Amino acid sequence: MQNPIIFCGNDSYTAGKILCVGRNYAEHARELGNEVPEFPLVFMKPASNLGFSGAHIHKPEHMGRLHYETELVLLITGEIHNASDEECMAAIGGYSVGLDMTLRDYQEELKKKGYPWTLAKCFDDAAVVTDFVPASAHQLTMDEVIRLKVNGEVKQNAPLNLMMFGPVEIVKFLSEKMTLYPGDLIFTGTPAGVGATDVGDVLEAEITGINSLSATIV
Ligand code: ZN
Repeated sequence: MQNPIIFCGNDSYTAGKILCVGRNYAEHARELGNEVPEFPLVFMKPASNLGFSGAHIHKPEHMGRLHYETELVLLITGEIHNASDEECMAAIGGYSVGLDMTLRDYQEELKKKGYPWTLAKCFDDAAVVTDFVPASAHQLTMDEVIRLKVNGEVKQNAPLNLMMFGPVEIVKFLSEKMTLYPGDLIFTGTPAGVGATDVGDVLEAEITGINSLSATIV
């Protein structure tokens, strides 16, 4: 399978790696009983896990609770390594709302054993996004609000400015670890209010002033 194509304004990119930051909102770290990290906690998903607005997310069977996490997603549109703040800013080419779907019980089990979380975070449609808004068309103020409704009921509702590591800081940190390429995506973490979702649920996620997406659990 070819990696999916990401659309951003008039441009399109083949999706590369998906880097995700965990525990980037203090209140969310606390709601799961986790410590607030000293540096960005990073995990990955393969591009083949991408789903797009309108996705039917198949709830993995016999794997315990499936949680939603609503996040700001950055699209990298430049090649950077050990980049300066300015280079990082220039390489962030677009923004989208995204869902980082997580098998929470499985993650807890793996965490307890000291194993990687990979399989709790990686399955088909575990990373849902929609068309990106070009950074040239939206000046990020961090006053934008992440909002998630499940079957019409608001479950997550928090401004981006509650993030501990901001977009440029995250991209800079990652660019010190590995080269980032056009088409790479970065999920920047979720605010408090995560919860379980079941078959038949309709998720509507938005970041005010940026975009919105919907997905159905099947
Ligand atoms: Zn997440």
